[in-house]
Amino acid sequence: MIETMDGQGQTRSVPGDLRTQELSQGVFAFIQADGSWGWSNAGLVTDAGDALLIDTFFTLPQTRRLLAAVSDAAPQARVTTVVNSHLNGDHCHGNQLVEEARTITSACAASEVEHELPPATYQWLQSHPPEGVAGRYMTRHFGGFDFSGIELSPPTMTFSGRLSLQVGRITVSLMELGPAHTDGDVAVHIPDAGVVFCGDLLFQGDHPVVWSGPLLGWADACDALLATEATTFVPGHGAVVGRAEVARFAQYLRDLHGQASASAYAGLSLEEAAARVSLDAYGDLGLPERVVTAVAAVYRERGLPAPATPLELLGPVARFAEAHSQS
Ligand SMILES: [Zn+2]
Repeated sequence: MIETMDGQGQTRSVPGDLRTQELSQGVFAFIQADGSWGWSNAGLVTDAGDALLIDTFFTLPQTRRLLAAVSDAAPQARVTTVVNSHLNGDHCHGNQLVEEARTITSACAASEVEHELPPATYQWLQSHPPEGVAGRYMTRHFGGFDFSGIELSPPTMTFSGRLSLQVGRITVSLMELGPAHTDGDVAVHIPDAGVVFCGDLLFQGDHPVVWSGPLLGWADACDALLATEATTFVPGHGAVVGRAEVARFAQYLRDLHGQASASAYAGLSLEEAAARVSLDAYGDLGLPERVVTAVAAVYRERGLPAPATPLELLGPVARFAEAHSQS
């Protein structure tokens, strides 16, 4: 990984850098800097020439880099299975490059694909951004990705609840834990390694994006991650962490639920409620504008008017970001 020094003399990673981490024999994490919008992580479980890949990336160039790193990590292995933790584009757009592999996700995640922004729409929005603040936000965070050539590959196999798979001698357990980040989130547990690939059930370094919720259900999903007794957790975005960080993340979700519920009860609008969220305890996290998505989930839960789709959320998220950067 290339690292640079910023103005304060601190080491920062450059967006797009891909780092391979061996977590246990035959278990690898692929961590994309800097973990923000579109820079997600992937995983590999391999034994006896067989390999299971957890997630592909947002674009074909990113996924080609991932597959080169997979070949470096396990030169003899053939990827026969791809598990998609969910079907947001940053976790599945590259599926087509893993030819001949079966693709597995939860039935719930598979049924959500119609709500996803198609790759062609991302591409169109790059040349036709919305007016004003929303367009500026979109261009800043998504303008640099190359969405060309993506053809969505739907999952070839789905499951509900739990599914156990064998990769050589390694047992892999798929756990459906949504609705949380999305309706059908899947975590991948490797019991013998004490590792869980959490997909976007876990964010590190930035505030989480909430497309579905409920937040308390998501916090319970974090408790289920901890109940595996694993010691190593790979988030969908950001650095690999241990149990304490997963517990802190669950606490964050419960805190946001409490704060947003109080604002809903007080009759505040969504954007007033988001502006009122106390971020004091989360000063180390980037992209604070994502609290808008958490507050919106709580408002929807309570039957209050709130944006639901990514394009509906874009405006309020972008306005929060601009207001926050000026403060
Ligand atoms: Zn993601």
